[in-house]
Amino acid sequence: MRKPLIAGNWKLNGSLQNNRKLIEGILAELPLANADMLVCPPAVYLAQVAALADKGLQVGAQDVAEHSQGAYTGEISAAMLADVGAAFVLLGHSERRSLFGDDNARVASKFAQAVAAGLIPVLCLGESLAERESGQTEQVVAEQLQAVIQANRDSDWSQVVIAYEPVWAIGTGKTASPEQAQAVHAFIRGRLQEQLGDVAQHIRIVYGGSVKPENAATLFAQTDIDGGLIGGASLQAADFMAIAKSV
Ligand code: PEP
Repeated sequence: MRKPLIAGNWKLNGSLQNNRKLIEGILAELPLANADMLVCPPAVYLAQVAALADKGLQVGAQDVAEHSQGAYTGEISAAMLADVGAAFVLLGHSERRSLFGDDNARVASKFAQAVAAGLIPVLCLGESLAERESGQTEQVVAEQLQAVIQANRDSDWSQVVIAYEPVWAIGTGKTASPEQAQAVHAFIRGRLQEQLGDVAQHIRIVYGGSVKPENAATLFAQTDIDGGLIGGASLQAADFMAIAKSV
């Protein structure tokens, strides 16, 4: 029922030349019957990557302004991202939350901006190691989700993607076990069902945190894991596509 999504978050990496090579490597293996594919380059490369993208490969931004226009030096609006070819946007990535002050209220505003411009949000949720170790995982994830739902209850949620990314697993080489990840994904789907009703069954919940070709298949085999958000391993076409093919 839910077609898995494999998304690459390039973070602060790329150049015109490297992007072209990476996209060519990905396109050589597309289309895949079993998964939708997305890459999220830095904003300055969105137009380049959107022009190269083919065979159903989608393009997304890594962040968006919480305002639509005005005196916000350095910001990029949702409409601008859509204008240069983005179809998706990552929201509330843990690096944005921890390094750039994106709190739940700001993420909720960004979500509203994205939806208004026709972008599909990929809403990132996840707990820190300290929060997991003190038994707060569900509470943290529920609060992050609730802030966005409360402010955006009337949006069309059927296209929205949730990314569960335990902060302690991002870029660390530590992955949540398939059982740990499935438990949180099932919890998130339960909250979506409670708050939004049956649309919850259509919302893709992808896992992120040190997904590699070696661990992808067992994660993606879990009932409520609908694909992955891939950081480091999305920068090599061979690894990214090996992950995608393990769906
Ligand atoms: C991410 O940045 O969203 C991520 C999951 O990174 P990595 O795969 O490198 O842990």
